[in-house]
Amino acid sequence: MPQRTADHDADVIVVGAGPSGATAAAYLAQAGLDVLVLEKTSFPREKVCGDGLTPRGVKQLIRLGIDTSVEAGWRHSDGLRVYGGGISLELPWPELSNYPPYSVTRTRMDFDEILIRHAQKAGARLQESTNVLGPLHDETTGRVIGVTAQTTGDRKADKVNYRAPVVLAADGNSARTALGAGIPRRHDRPLGVAYRRYYSSPRSTDNYLEGWLELWEGKPRESRLLPGYGWIFPMGDGTCNVGLGALNTSAAFGKTDYPDLLNRWVASLPGDWEMTEETATGKAKGAALPMGFNRQPAYKDGLLLLGDSAGMVNPFNGEGIAYAMESGYLAAETVVQALSRKEGPARERALTGYSTHLKSTYGGYYRLGNTFVKLIGHPQVMKACTEHGLKHPALMRALLKLMANLTDARGGDAVDRVINALAKVAPAA
Ligand SMILES: Cc1cc2nc3c(=O)[nH]c(=O)nc-3n(C[C@H](O)[C@H](O)[C@H](O)COP(=O)(O)OP(=O)(O)OC[C@H]3O[C@@H](n4cnc5c(N)ncnc54)[C@H](O)[C@@H]3O)c2cc1C
Repeated sequence: MPQRTADHDADVIVVGAGPSGATAAAYLAQAGLDVLVLEKTSFPREKVCGDGLTPRGVKQLIRLGIDTSVEAGWRHSDGLRVYGGGISLELPWPELSNYPPYSVTRTRMDFDEILIRHAQKAGARLQESTNVLGPLHDETTGRVIGVTAQTTGDRKADKVNYRAPVVLAADGNSARTALGAGIPRRHDRPLGVAYRRYYSSPRSTDNYLEGWLELWEGKPRESRLLPGYGWIFPMGDGTCNVGLGALNTSAAFGKTDYPDLLNRWVASLPGDWEMTEETATGKAKGAALPMGFNRQPAYKDGLLLLGDSAGMVNPFNGEGIAYAMESGYLAAETVVQALSRKEGPARERALTGYSTHLKSTYGGYYRLGNTFVKLIGHPQVMKACTEHGLKHPALMRALLKLMANLTDARGGDAVDRVINALAKVAPAA
């Protein structure tokens, strides 16, 4: 049990109730700690996302004890259908001992609330409509000893300080808490931007996710190639989540009207999707994708960064939920150990272990991803990859394992061994 003092409002404060914050809160509460989650919105609420979890993300849900069955409302998919170079290829999810053989989709309106209610059931306290303005520092040591927050929607509301020996920044891409602690973004690491829109579609129950490596304005190879990559994720509720992303390594980054680009690409999709302005169920919305550890260090002076706040989106495929949840688990494990020690060097050693652990787990893989992102920023490299790659299903199956980070660490096949060895020898990002 932690060494509590009377002036603490909780053992741990978590800023943000997205997937990283809710996961950490659940594990911390399960371990018997008093966890206070401060969230600026109130549930249910929307979060702009593709709403897809690969088997890597599903594994995290299962580890938390969440029922991921179809009966519980999850849409399952068997794999990824990839389009590029005018052809398509169906790639089932790999058969692995480490990961389930299916992916899921669920809107973030539902998904995030399921996770935070799970954490509350475990004992975490949630305070909604509470905007965290920044970390609270000890005046002499500079250490983070809590946060300052204000009720949302009321500018005249008093600013309130909340104190705890450890604070988790799980506030997503805005990374306000990290910035307040003097941890800026690394501009030498990749950043993406993605937009999505929902459409009613008769193919809402298609059992494959779709990934488009090239976006054409009309017929593939006979029309204009648009910058970026796209997805169609069937939601199983009569709609599909359709979106596109672009990386800051491409020349068009920041100079593109993405909602317009999405419209032009969607207009070129096969007619059986029935996606038109009339079947769209809302507006296109977008946000940034912080990738490849683009904010470091992940631990500093009593503050741990989780998920998007630590820039943990996978540079290969834009997936962020799995990594947000994994970091939530690791942060909770770290904090439980740290708070069982007396305040001082021993506790600090345990907390510093969080950064080291993250780097040794993901650093090599993200380094490979960051290099990949630089390469595909050159249109001719991307064109060569899609033209030649899709003609070789075995190569594409291997690429799916690499890009979705789905390998068995022990006892895997030759592809798993090559990917694991590459991630190990690459210097950590
Ligand atoms: C268009 C798009 C499509 C995407 N598609 C996918 C996908 O299909 N699959 C996938 O795995 N990933 C996808 N991602 C990435 C994914 O959305 C993120 O990686 C993931 O949500 C990160 O989780 P998080 O908990 O770190 O942060 P978030 O989910 O952003 O949660 C942060 C929480 O903190 C709260 N908050 C923020 N600031 C404050 C504050 N000052 N005070 C209090 N609370 C605050 C927010 O309201 C929010 O609840 C996509 C992203 C985008 C933009």
